[in-house]
Amino acid sequence: MGTLIGRWLALALAFAAPAVAAEPESLLLRPDRVFDGVDPVAHAGWEVLVTGDRIVAVGPKLAAPAGARVIALPGQTLMPGMIEGHGHLFLHPYDETSWDDQVLHEPLALRTARAVAQARATLLAGFTSERDLGTEGAGFADVGLKQAIDQGIVPGPRLTVATRAIVALGAYGPKGFEPGVAIPQGAQEVSGAAEMVRAVREQIAAGADVVKLYADYRWGPGEPSRPTLSLAEIVAATEAAHDAGRTVAVHASTAEGMRRAIAAGVDTIEHGYGGTAEVFKAMAAKGIALCPTLAASDAVARYRGWKGADPAPAGVTESRKSFALARAAGVPMCMGGDVGVFTHGDNVREMELMAAGGMPPAQVMIAATSGNARAFHLDARLGAVKAGLLADLIAVGGDPTRDVAAARDVRLVIKGGVVVKGP
Ligand SMILES: [Zn+2]
Repeated sequence: MGTLIGRWLALALAFAAPAVAAEPESLLLRPDRVFDGVDPVAHAGWEVLVTGDRIVAVGPKLAAPAGARVIALPGQTLMPGMIEGHGHLFLHPYDETSWDDQVLHEPLALRTARAVAQARATLLAGFTSERDLGTEGAGFADVGLKQAIDQGIVPGPRLTVATRAIVALGAYGPKGFEPGVAIPQGAQEVSGAAEMVRAVREQIAAGADVVKLYADYRWGPGEPSRPTLSLAEIVAATEAAHDAGRTVAVHASTAEGMRRAIAAGVDTIEHGYGGTAEVFKAMAAKGIALCPTLAASDAVARYRGWKGADPAPAGVTESRKSFALARAAGVPMCMGGDVGVFTHGDNVREMELMAAGGMPPAQVMIAATSGNARAFHLDARLGAVKAGLLADLIAVGGDPTRDVAAARDVRLVIKGGVVVKGP
């Protein structure tokens, strides 16, 4: 108990300390090597100088300015803070509480309090940014959580938020109730292009940075996924979002749902489990990134008792196959695991599954840093260790460009030049 309180206090002090700093602090970071988020080969002997919230210099043998705090990181790789590409901070694993019960029975305050704790766990695991793709019934609470993080009230990653997400009327859940009774849904329902545009604009007005659509879903329990939104609805949403400078992320696990999303010119496709070689070729041609969410299929199979051995269940096999097809077609790869379906803070699980699926470790690390930054239009500020960018940096034991599991051993987390975890 004493240790726990001590750790909590140390953490609280670490978060509180920067508020009292009189002038921008300089940090000189001396790891064994720097993975800059772009070059697949880590640079041995490089150092990084941070002043205030920015990276100011990167390279060998940097001179420390007077008063700089020097942090030695022996045996460690310094790299950009990782970016989770597909998360739900307002969900927790369904083997703890079913999705239906989270949406229907958990009070909003409980869900928000849990999201605060989950945001902290995410940051301490080295993820300094996260794209949150829908509150699943928790309304616009992600907008408030983002503000609380940005104002320094609670620790967490920089959030790109979707708010409620948008589904076709009658196509989502929870389902299976007396048909005459209105049941709260996990996303905003629309029917027709005009309602779609209204929903997109409502969500943007409320604070959405990204618009999340469901191009397909199971219409009923036990049914396969089928298209839900029409091409005209997806096009209307994409035009309204892009006019407002927002990106569009589309849940699609059928080939037809993906075809419509690609034709509409969306920014990312989520899951893509039913993608064919021809569909992935069209995605690659338009530069649309895929968030493969291998960890979501893996987690759902484990809920049902799978222990990870071969033969894998159908859902896992399908996600592995689509991931391989997408890579073969040259689709830009996002790193997004659908975390929330599995435990927040365990985000590296998706990266381990990408590596197990044949992607070289350095390419996985690029996807989790500069790749996601580019796909989400954050690359002018984040995703690389480069002078002028925000100082969102982490140090991990070992070399994650050779073994992504090293990304679990997070020793130092700096967000905006502030040390939130470390020596
Ligand atoms: Zn999701």
